[in-house]
This record gives sequence, structure tokens and C-alpha cells, in this order.
Amino acid sequence: MQSGAVNMGAVSSLTYEVSGAEEKLASSQKRLQRYNTQEKTIVAFTPKAVPQPKEKTLKIGKGDTLAGVLQNAGVGASEAYKAVLAMEKYYDPRKIRPGQKIQVRFDPTDNPNTNKSAQYHFSEMKIDIDAIKSVSLKRTEDNGFESRILEKEVTSRLYTNKANIEVSLYGSAQKAGIPAPVIAQAIHIFSWDVDFQRDIRKGDVLEVMYEQIETPEGIKVKNGDIIYVRLDVNGHDIPVYRFKMDDGDIDYFTANGVSLRKALMQTPIDGARLSSGFGMRKHPVLGYNKMHKGVDFAAPRGTPIYAAGDGTIEKAGPWKSYGNYVRIRHNATLKTAYAHMKKFAKGIRNGTRVKQGQVIGYVGTTGRSTGPHLHYEVLQNGRQANPKKINLPQGETLKSTQLTAFKKHVKKLDRQYASLTKGTTLASSQKKKRTTMR
Ligand SMILES: [Zn+2]
Repeated sequence: MQSGAVNMGAVSSLTYEVSGAEEKLASSQKRLQRYNTQEKTIVAFTPKAVPQPKEKTLKIGKGDTLAGVLQNAGVGASEAYKAVLAMEKYYDPRKIRPGQKIQVRFDPTDNPNTNKSAQYHFSEMKIDIDAIKSVSLKRTEDNGFESRILEKEVTSRLYTNKANIEVSLYGSAQKAGIPAPVIAQAIHIFSWDVDFQRDIRKGDVLEVMYEQIETPEGIKVKNGDIIYVRLDVNGHDIPVYRFKMDDGDIDYFTANGVSLRKALMQTPIDGARLSSGFGMRKHPVLGYNKMHKGVDFAAPRGTPIYAAGDGTIEKAGPWKSYGNYVRIRHNATLKTAYAHMKKFAKGIRNGTRVKQGQVIGYVGTTGRSTGPHLHYEVLQNGRQANPKKINLPQGETLKSTQLTAFKKHVKKLDRQYASLTKGTTLASSQKKKRTTMR
């Protein structure tokens, strides 16, 4: 112990000596530096401080105009006007909103003789349009301005999540941190096979892998598509995979290559409650017993209504007690009808071709109706039929080379899902943070 202490002493004194030498060296270097800087200062004295570009961030206030904000920042009226004009090609200056930020830059002019304010001129401006796009403006050689669109590169990132269903699929999925548009897409994918009012039980599971489009900084731009989704519901386990077919169409298939898409959707609306089934009932407006020749879904006003299948619009307009009404012809025997709409979707008129799942209108309460709901009818050979009772054809099945390609694709997605959920705690906590940050 003692010898160790002695040794330590020796070491520290040695260190002291060394650092003393260093100090000496350092101070002579400092002297040398001081000498050098003095010399430099003398040489650099004549041009004085070289004017540096000035950059500012301007914030739009209530009632501000773009030209006005530029003028307040010291841009001359005619320059501000020219700048706004040059920018108009890509950005409507009237779209500017309070709180929006504008970056501007002023560069020194080579004109030192004039007064102080003329030593700088307005040279650049940048306005963010959204998370990826911004419009930039630059002074040209001939003292005009030119603008262009700048776009950040975005990447698609895969996320996974799992919801254990307690009461509703929607509520439990939201609690698990699955973004609302992803939940809506999942409901949409299964809407041919699952009646979300009756089939969902506590203990059911939703598993999902979806894309998110992000900027390089990891800021979400928008939700991408569901790549894989598994719903274990009421004893039926249905894993489903997104797949692009040879003809370019994209669809969701079970692991055997069977499309979930049926000729008609059971529920042509998201998250709605079945409020009145098909059959005899006491009419809510007329008060007497009357055959209800359709199915009612209660939903908030404005909820999108989907075309239950591919087809052609046969009628879109007001129709007696049905209010705003759309009827689609799907094939020689099948039609569907949608009533009491608030309004029709853009482009929905007689003769329009529609795809299954396309929005055709929005829930309202026009016509003979007590509150916002969709009255939905399936017509078979011209007569209203109970949608629960008619036999709907199965979806498309992948065959031969497409099936081989699909099976390979399924293996890849399964591996991807497994590797993303292998779940080091770090990855999963990051994932959670990201999904709840929205
Ligand atoms: Zn009805």
C-alpha cells in the first residue's frame, strides 16, 4: 500500500513537470499567435467589416398580406410586388395564413456609395407550402425574380401494431395507437366478410403492418397503405395481404390467394351502426306496420357512403320519399340503392362508372327520414331483397404464375412482419412514441 502511494506521488510529480513544460510551450505559442493576429488585423483593416448576407424569418400575422410583410421587413414596394408576382405561378399569395413563416435573405449590393439602406437588397425568399413542398424565390442577374418548387424527398416506412379488442374494434385499435385512417382502411378491407356490429367480441385481435410516408426528419406526411392485416374475430383467423396483380390492380388476398372482395359489400359505410334490418316494422315516420325493404345504418351526417360493388350509376338525384338517392346497376340481376343522402360525391351522376368502395355520397336525412342514416337496398331482378339472405359470389382467386408470385410475396411479408415485431423494447417504444405523436 505504502509503496503504491510513493509510486503515485512520483507519477503525479512527473505529470506536473510535463504539464509545466507544456504551459511554457503554450504561452510562447500564444505570444506567437498574438503577434500573428496583430499583423493580420493591420493588413485586414482597409476593407473594414465585409458586409454579410442577412437572413430573417418573418411571421405572418392576422390580416397580413405577403407583400405587406415583405415591405415591413424592408423590401421596397415595387420589389415586393415583383416578388409576389413571380411567386404566383406556384403559390397563391392569398393562401398565406397567420402563423406561417417566411424565410427571407438580403444580400449586400456592390454599391457602397449610396445610403445605408441601399447597401442591401432583397435576394431570396422561401415559403413552406406543406410538410414536403416549399416555394422558393431568387433574384435573377437582371434584377428580376424567379421562383420554383422545392420538394423534400419522402420515404415510406413500415410500422406494425396490434390491438386486443375489448369493446369496439375502432376504440381498441385507437387505444393501441393505430392511426385513424389505418383503422378505417382495415375496416374497409374486412367489410365484405365481417359485420362489425355483430361479429366482434372481447378477446378478438387486430394485427396490422402499414406504411407511413415521412420526411427525412421522420415527420409524418401521410398514412400509406396497409400491407398486411390479420383479424382474429369470433373464432375466424383471417390474415390478409396486399398484392398487385399482373393487370396492375391492387387487392387484398387471404394466404390462399382468394380476394376478400365480393360482388357486393355487406356494409357500404364505415363504422356505422345497423339501426333497422330488413322486414316488417312499425314505420318511424308513418307510425303503422310496413315492410322495411332495405337496411338502415345510423351514422353521423356527412359520413361517406361507398358503392357496394363495381357498376354504373343508373340514377343519382332526388327520388320521392327517398330524398337524395343513388342507384347502381352491378350486373344483369343485381342493383343497389342508397337513400336520404345529404349530397352526392363529386362526379356522381347518371351513367358514371363506379368502383367498389368508391365514395358516392354522404349520409344525410333528406326525404322521409327521422335522422341522419343510410337506407340501403339490394335489388335482385328488380325487387328489393334481404342483403343477408342473397348468395353473394366469392371473390377472385389467384391462379398459376400469379399464385406462385403471391405465395412468394406472402413469405416476404411474413418475414418482414416477424422482424419488425421481434421487439427489442427500444424499437417498440420508439414505434409507440411515433404513433402517438400525431
Ligand atoms: Zn330504411
